[in-house]
Amino acid sequence: MGLLNDRQSQLLIDGKLVAGNAGTFPTVNPATEEVLGVAADASTDDMGRAIEAARRAFDDTDWSTNTELRVRCLRQLQEALTKHVEELREITIAEVGAPVMLTSMAQLEGPIADLSFCADTAESYQWTTDAGIASPMGIKTKRTIAREAVGVVGAITPWNFPHQINLAKLGPALAAGNTIVLKPAPDTPWCAAVLGELISEHTDIPAGVVNIITSSDHAVGALLSKDPRVDMVSFTGSTNTGRAVMADGSATLKKVFLELGGKSAFLVLDDADLAGACSMSAFTASMHAGQGCAITTRLVVPRARYDEAVGAAAATMGSIKPGDPTDPGTVCGPLISSRQRNRVQEYLDSATAEGGTFACGGGRPADRDTGYFIEPTVIAGLDNNAKVAREEIFGPVLTVIAHDGDDDAVRIANDSPYGLSGTVFSADEERAAGIAARMRVGTVNVNGGVWYSADMPFGGYKQSGIGREMGLAGFEEYLETKAIATAKN
Ligand code: NAD
Repeated sequence: MGLLNDRQSQLLIDGKLVAGNAGTFPTVNPATEEVLGVAADASTDDMGRAIEAARRAFDDTDWSTNTELRVRCLRQLQEALTKHVEELREITIAEVGAPVMLTSMAQLEGPIADLSFCADTAESYQWTTDAGIASPMGIKTKRTIAREAVGVVGAITPWNFPHQINLAKLGPALAAGNTIVLKPAPDTPWCAAVLGELISEHTDIPAGVVNIITSSDHAVGALLSKDPRVDMVSFTGSTNTGRAVMADGSATLKKVFLELGGKSAFLVLDDADLAGACSMSAFTASMHAGQGCAITTRLVVPRARYDEAVGAAAATMGSIKPGDPTDPGTVCGPLISSRQRNRVQEYLDSATAEGGTFACGGGRPADRDTGYFIEPTVIAGLDNNAKVAREEIFGPVLTVIAHDGDDDAVRIANDSPYGLSGTVFSADEERAAGIAARMRVGTVNVNGGVWYSADMPFGGYKQSGIGREMGLAGFEEYLETKAIATAKN
């Protein structure tokens, strides 16, 4: 891998690192607004060649059935990533604006470590199951159920946790025997392009098995949803784009796996440690400037203690200053782009227009005139019908909403088009478990428990997605099921 300064990243197509036929596009440091360097800009032809290479590698090589090769390659990739982790950290902080403290967790080191789970799963997986002998329709038959790779996977990913999301698709898709074309977000091309460099230099992954296509043009990625040579699209991003991917995939009836947006609720029951719970909620809403799909951005608290809850949240959130992501003490870095900062500011303006107030924050920090920073902000005085309570903001913004008891808290949590995640805090674990069971979401944190783990499924109900990433369920998303019936005398 080259140095951070003046990098010019390339595409990976059919085992070769190549320039893009549409030229290059810049990648920007969101904390400084400086152009870091350029990435290869793929044309539609480049994408076509990548899809063709992935198709050939799937159809004409033994990749899909050679489990030993796939496991070896995944472990080689993990080793290469680990060996280059400091360069990757530098790129991640610079390109994503990710606080350095998060790179030892989900922003970098976590997903690298999680590749072991993918390799181990492929190694121990029961690819065929003996379903026994039976005589359906009077014909004696030996039945076998086989699990096989889906085929060519098109992976389309966002910018907020690029390594986590790229590897949570690449790892299981490869472990399951698929070939892949990865199309990252235009805001974070280098985080994906480095994978191409490491794969071509340090692994035995055969040509065409992994292709990496960076592009400034969303339409180039959209080809993955439309092309008949692609069997499955694995998409993470906004709910609106997920709808477009699903619509585009319908013509060829592709398998579509979607991880989308969220507007998750943090429920504080009336017996909970209110200050502690509100402080934790405020801290998590500030991390990585709130750019996490599963962050609980609605803090739902007992009405009788509403002011106290707002004060506790504002005490924590007001003390978190948006800062330089290279500083080990920084929790809240910049937003990814000026476009995102403007979007967050529009949501903040909508909150005051609807009668809300800011208990802290509310706009750009006075001491930072460069970088796409927004102050961690607590919004008070609104209910669950407010725009900021219904729509995903993707900034460090927490809306505090009053509830009138457990049933009302559950009603508010579920009164959302989304269903990604949720949290419940109560002194009574059984009571909290009862609430967790009623929340229509894919992951629930009870009293601070952590659901994020390589062996745990992650994904959403309702308009937060279709399917699960990570865990055994995340591996099996990339498999087809075949029933084989052999007549027996
Ligand atoms: P986005 O939807 O704008 O873009 C995501 C990806 O889709 C990018 O690579 C983009 O180039 C591509 N894209 C855009 N239009 C496309 C089209 N018509 N067809 C195919 N691809 C297209 O999302 P973003 O702004 O990059 O990321 C933020 C969003 O991602 C948030 O809504 C967040 O909640 C969501 N997200 C979800 C999860 C999850 O697991 N549920 C995780 C992280 C982020």
